[in-house]
Parts: sequence; structure tokens; C-alpha cells
Amino acid sequence: MKHTPSLSIATGLASLEARLAQDLAYLELPAKPWVPARSHDGQPVRDVVVIGAGMCGLAATAKLILTGITNVIAYDAAPAGLEGPWVTFARMETLRSPKGLTGPSLGLPQLTFRAWFTAQWGDEAWQSLDKIPKDQWMDYLVWYRKVLDLPVQNGVRMTGISEVGDLIAIDVEGAETGRVLTRRLVLATGRSGLGGFSVPDFLKNVDRSRWAHSADDIDFDKLRGKRVAVIGAGASSMDNAAAALEAGAGAVDLLIRRKEMPRINKMTGIGSQGVVHGMHQLPDAWKWKFVDYTAETQTPPPRSSTLRVSRHDNARFFLDCGILSVKDDADGLLIETTQGSMRYDFLIAATGFSNDFNGRPEFAALAPHIRSWSDGRYTPEMGHARKSMAEAPDLGPAFEFKERVAGSCPMLSHIHCFNDAAMLTHGKVSGDIPAVSAGADRLVRGIAASLFAEDVEAHFANLVAYNIPELQGDEWVDSTPTLKKETAL
Ligand SMILES: Cc1cc2nc3c(=O)[nH]c(=O)nc-3n(C[C@H](O)[C@H](O)[C@H](O)COP(=O)(O)OP(=O)(O)OC[C@H]3O[C@@H](n4cnc5c(N)ncnc54)[C@H](O)[C@@H]3O)c2cc1C
Repeated sequence: MKHTPSLSIATGLASLEARLAQDLAYLELPAKPWVPARSHDGQPVRDVVVIGAGMCGLAATAKLILTGITNVIAYDAAPAGLEGPWVTFARMETLRSPKGLTGPSLGLPQLTFRAWFTAQWGDEAWQSLDKIPKDQWMDYLVWYRKVLDLPVQNGVRMTGISEVGDLIAIDVEGAETGRVLTRRLVLATGRSGLGGFSVPDFLKNVDRSRWAHSADDIDFDKLRGKRVAVIGAGASSMDNAAAALEAGAGAVDLLIRRKEMPRINKMTGIGSQGVVHGMHQLPDAWKWKFVDYTAETQTPPPRSSTLRVSRHDNARFFLDCGILSVKDDADGLLIETTQGSMRYDFLIAATGFSNDFNGRPEFAALAPHIRSWSDGRYTPEMGHARKSMAEAPDLGPAFEFKERVAGSCPMLSHIHCFNDAAMLTHGKVSGDIPAVSAGADRLVRGIAASLFAEDVEAHFANLVAYNIPELQGDEWVDSTPTLKKETAL
């Protein structure tokens, strides 16, 4: 929906920004910097480097700076304004989330999407807004970064991680190239950022020109008039099917293994501050039970996304349609399914992402050492050994990795996994919009505490060296000599 500005955009935003600045001043934020500067062989050392400047990376960077940890930089491989999925491979029209979510606003009312929207289009437009258009969510994140003046460097990819004494060295390429030293590393690398795409075995030998993952850059115009298969029944399969249909695909079939469409969004249904703050403190067996049940029951695609597909006469839904094999030949793709053989020109696999660190070259030095739930945290009594869950990293209280073998890779305890892969250990506080501020708060409290502890000698030396008197010495008179004289009489 298009909204007519009720105030001039500049005036509305300028006034919001002034209010935000005032709130920050009232709260004495950002806090004063307190982490001692470090260097190594003459090279400056960052307190924290954040990889990824999508929503989680921005929230983490902002929270670090508000907490007085200011020697921070975030790098993102994407150009400015194109971070994350929103204007790249997200093919839905609006967010699924309700518009009122406070998202990455970190407890600051003027930093919410609602404040940003209302400042520009007014309260009436807010009331009539149904869901947030996805491009507008990206515009909001761009403003969030700008208004907080966050130190983000775009066009820089992290390509490697290594250990230098008690520091972490990261290799970067692009707009900045070289080796950056840091004391803490936050991986806010998104859903695909740790493992990559989850690709079913039956696609592994099929020519890449004949299929795409739903998060690939797909040229939908090339699908005009073509027979397209989409695997999956989640939000991304609907969005990709809709994009193909709207681009003029000849026919689009959704091949869905399940006998029935998932219809109930379970975790959203029980969403509460209890879930946000309590899930990560539960015993492991309970964590497993929640995530396993949600994986089993699955999150349905949004109703609007499903209707966006089904309103096309040339869209078909095939349930109980498991894929047995896919072959490519002169006539396109031959797909053997549990419902029989089917012919297509192109296939889109909306099959999600994996946590398999071995798939990413930048994590090569870490991958063999990262402790996952399968390394002892999961026991068969907890239930079904779901692969995606068993691969999940076993994280500490501030999202830090743990070593598979003690002493094999000490830097892991200074590398924080602030992305979707943390869900099994921490609950949904580092991937989706609703609780990202709670996640950033948990992350930064942990980093602040560990930096303080590591520098405890310097902080104690500061305590000893601190010598600015609060009392000038002229505020009182010592009566002891008088008392002595009196008692002597
Ligand atoms: C299609 C889609 C729709 C979604 N819709 C919703 C929704 O409606 N509501 C909701 O709550 N959640 C939604 N989500 C889930 C979640 O909110 C998003 O995935 C969100 O983008 C997560 O933010 P992030 O910062 O973790 O990851 P991202 O936004 O993906 O950002 C990660 C960033 O890391 C960068 N990066 C990765 N590796 C490197 C590297 N080696 N070097 C440098 N940079 C790197 C990437 O370029 C990227 O910009 C959706 C997710 C998807 C995929």
C-alpha cells in the first residue's frame, strides 16, 4: 500500500531524530568508552569485529556502542542497502511479522519501525497499514544504521579466521583488504551464513542451469512460458512460486512431501517474554523437545503468500509428493515422485539452510573444532536425532562457540555465533525480528563481562592510580586535637 506523507519526510524524520538524540542524552547513551586500547606488534586491535550488517549485525553493533565498547567495526560483503534477504532474494510482498514488533530498537521507542513510519506518514497511515512491505523494512534498517551512525564497512568479505596469541585475525577482501586483529568476533552472518544452502541429494548431480535454490539470484523473466517445479511448502516456496507465476511461467507445480499443508504457526502462537528470556535457561531435553516439535509440525506459509499462488489457474499443489529422483535430459527435467513421473523445464528448491560449517571456506580453521549438539549435548532419550539439530553449535551463555576437544582451538570462546544457528541453545533471539533486541542485549552483556574480566589488572591499576579528589579538604575541620587537649585537662 502507498502512503501519502502527512508531513514532509525530511521534517518528520528530522523531528524523530531530534527526539531520539534527546532520549539518548537523557539515558546517558552511548556510555563512555571503557575498554583499554590494545595493539599487537604496532598494529591496532579492535575490541569487537562484527561480520554481517543485516538486522542482527546492526543490532549487535549498536548495542556494543551504546554499552561503551566503541572500538568496533561491522563488515558486510553486500553493498550498502542490500544486506540480508529483504531486497535481494526475499520474494514475499510483506513481512510475515505483525507491524508492531519492536525488532532491533533496543528498548528505545524512537528507534522502532512504528516511530520511523509514523514520523513520515502519520498515525492514520499507521492504523491502516496491514503488514510491513519488505522493501520498506530495508529502508528502515538503512535509516537505523544512519541515525545511530554505526561503523559499517560494506563490500568487505571475511575470507578467513586464525589465532594470533590471545587475539583473532580475520582476513578481509574487497573495499578493505588485509588482516584485521580483534579481541572478539561476532558472526552475524544470517541464515545462510554458517553452512549455506541445504540441498537434497537428488539435486547434487543435476546441471545448475536447470535448478536454483530459493535464495539464489533467479532470473524469473527466463521462466516465462516454462514448466516450473517448486519443492517445499514453506514461506519461501510460496514466494518463489508466486514470483515465477507473476513473471509469466507457463505452469508452476508445488511438490510437497507432506500429506497435509502445515496450517498452524505454533511458536508464534506461544510467543511471550517468558519464551524470550526462559528458553535458553531450560534443561537441554526441553530445548530439544521444543525445537523438534516445531520442526515436526512445521511453520505454515503465510495465508497471503499462499493465496498469491493459488489465485493463478496455472498453479497446482501436489501433496504427499516425495521426490525419488531428478534427471536432466534433452527435454528438461524428469522428476520421479511418489505420485508418478513429472516433466519440467526448471526447478526451485525451497529447502532452507544448513549449519554445516565445513561448507564455508572462511570457517575452515574453525570447523573441525566447533562443538555441536551431537558431541554429547544431545542424548537419545531427548527424542528423534534430527540432523539439522544435531549439527547445531553447542554455545555458551554469550553465544560463544565451544571446543570439541579442550585446548584445540582456544579462540572459539571469543567467537560469538549471533545468527540463526544459535536457536537450539538460545531460543529465537538471533535470527527473527521479534526478540533480536533481547538477543543483542544477552550477547553484549556477555562480551562486556568477558572483556572486563580479561582486563581486570588494568582496571585495578586504574583504580589504584585514580587520584582526583572528590573532597577538597576544606569541607570539614578535624576536631581530634581539640578532643586530645580537652581529655588532657
Ligand atoms: C526470505 C526471508 C523472509 C523473512 N521474513 C521474516 C519475517 O517476516 N519476520 C521475521 O521475524 N523474520 C523473517 N525472516 C528471518 C530473519 O528475520 C531474516 O533472515 C533476517 O535477515 C536475519 O537477519 P541477520 O542479520 O541474522 O541475517 P541477514 O539479514 O541475512 O544478514 C547477514 C549478512 O551477513 C553478510 N555476510 C555473510 N557472510 C559474510 C562474510 N563472510 N563476510 C562479510 N559479510 C558476510 C551477508 O552479506 C548479509 O548481509 C526472513 C528470512 C528470509 C530468508
